[in-house]
Amino acid sequence: MKSISTIGLGLFLTGFAVFVLVLTVGQFRLTEEVLTAAVKPEHRAVLLERTAPMRNQNYNNQWSFIRDFKQAVYSYNDEVRAKGQADKAINDSYEFPVTRAASVGTVAENPWLWFWLSIGLATLGALLYMVPNPKYKGPGGIRSNFLYQHPATNRGWIGWLVGTFLIGFYVLLYMAPAYITNWTLLVSPISRALSGNAQASQWFLYGFLYTVVILVMGVRMLIRYRHSRYQQWRTVSVMFFQTSFAFLIPEVLALLNQPYQDLKSFWPLDYDFFFDYELNAKIQAGTFGIFMLVWGIIGTVVLVPVLTYFFGKRWYCSWVCGCGGLAETLGDPYRHLSDKSLKAWKFERPVVHGVLVFAVVMTALVLYTYFTGQSTVLGFLDSYSVRSTYGFYIGTLFSGVIGTGFYPIMGNRVWCRFGCPLAAYLGLVQRFKSRFRITTNGGQCISCGNCSAQCEMGIDVRWYAQRQQDIVRSSCVGCGICSAVCPRGVLNLETGRVDTRVI
Ligand code: SF4
Ligand code: SF4
Repeated sequence: MKSISTIGLGLFLTGFAVFVLVLTVGQFRLTEEVLTAAVKPEHRAVLLERTAPMRNQNYNNQWSFIRDFKQAVYSYNDEVRAKGQADKAINDSYEFPVTRAASVGTVAENPWLWFWLSIGLATLGALLYMVPNPKYKGPGGIRSNFLYQHPATNRGWIGWLVGTFLIGFYVLLYMAPAYITNWTLLVSPISRALSGNAQASQWFLYGFLYTVVILVMGVRMLIRYRHSRYQQWRTVSVMFFQTSFAFLIPEVLALLNQPYQDLKSFWPLDYDFFFDYELNAKIQAGTFGIFMLVWGIIGTVVLVPVLTYFFGKRWYCSWVCGCGGLAETLGDPYRHLSDKSLKAWKFERPVVHGVLVFAVVMTALVLYTYFTGQSTVLGFLDSYSVRSTYGFYIGTLFSGVIGTGFYPIMGNRVWCRFGCPLAAYLGLVQRFKSRFRITTNGGQCISCGNCSAQCEMGIDVRWYAQRQQDIVRSSCVGCGICSAVCPRGVLNLETGRVDTRVI
């Protein structure tokens, strides 16, 4: 069994290495047809002229190709700005679509081969590593041996390496997708099969990898927490919602010429739900588009508070949400790294509620602009700048780069705890009007501290257990791991009349 695990680890590392190295291979050729297909009609003439020296040249790597293309655009923009004609500058970001359309090398020609050598091999290796791993065998129960000694799980060199890769991935994905063009080529055949789109976008790549990671690490969860039915069902649930609602259904909707929408992602987590282009796309899509619009509003206004009243925020954060799904699967080895200090709690509350207020104000401004046609409010607030500020700082930096990139350093729920506006909304309902609580049979507690150590939201669960108080903290996502790791059965996730909570 141990040897199968070792083979699995070897395959995983080989697949991962190929995945990284694939970015360095390939060829790129900029022809007139490529340029014509990838840029808007109004920019074609000028880009054809400016990129003339690049055309019909063979580039052997993406870096020199992107560098020359950027230079062509920047030099043109500098010239028109110097002449005081800034309105003629090209502000569209063409690097990614042009690089993708100009790819002609081995990855573009043999995407399946490279797909199986990289993503396929890494997936198979990860499964082989986990399924027969003796670490997860033996009697049910959770062993966290060497958790605080291993370099992968205790902010050691492996943790930093993984964190650096994740941060780099998110930075490229959001800010410079042209540099991951070859990765999008790997999944283009899958994109074509699902949505008819022969050239996968960086978002398709992201959705695909996100789903694969949740499925593979979900298998690990099923093995690790096999003694807990709650954990088994919860894991199956996040695997199902990610695969169907977040990944497959939106792609099929695109195939049917319907707006792309994750029907389980509600405002304010889905912060652009009320943006003009989203509203227009749904309204123009006819009956089904209107259904999506109404469903999204009902979700935020009715489903979220009602289900949270009955079940606590766990129904969403630990069973349905994609961010929660990733945190509970990929992030499980890092849950003990969350900051448990009082200082962190004092920081958490104003920050997460501040993001909620920011989302509400930003959306109010966006809707004001939508209905009045005016972008400026009170003479100084420009709704377009406010929404791009929110998109960059909250949507990109906080939820992506920091929220996931720092899993191995700051724990797996940094975004959910400090930044998610929907979690703040759910938390308010949970704290003040919910039947959910974690009951504590304190007489049985041996103060081992397993529960506090494993709480991903930084809650000092033992403190409540020792006082025999129910836990009704707004941040608790109801993951149930505190209960699963308690050797004495002290903690129970329960529902009951709101006024019977012991707080
Ligand atoms: S208190 Fe328990 S159920 Fe709540 S977030 Fe922490 S570990 Fe999960
Ligand atoms: S894990 Fe159980 S026994 Fe240990 S401190 Fe927490 S409540 Fe007490």
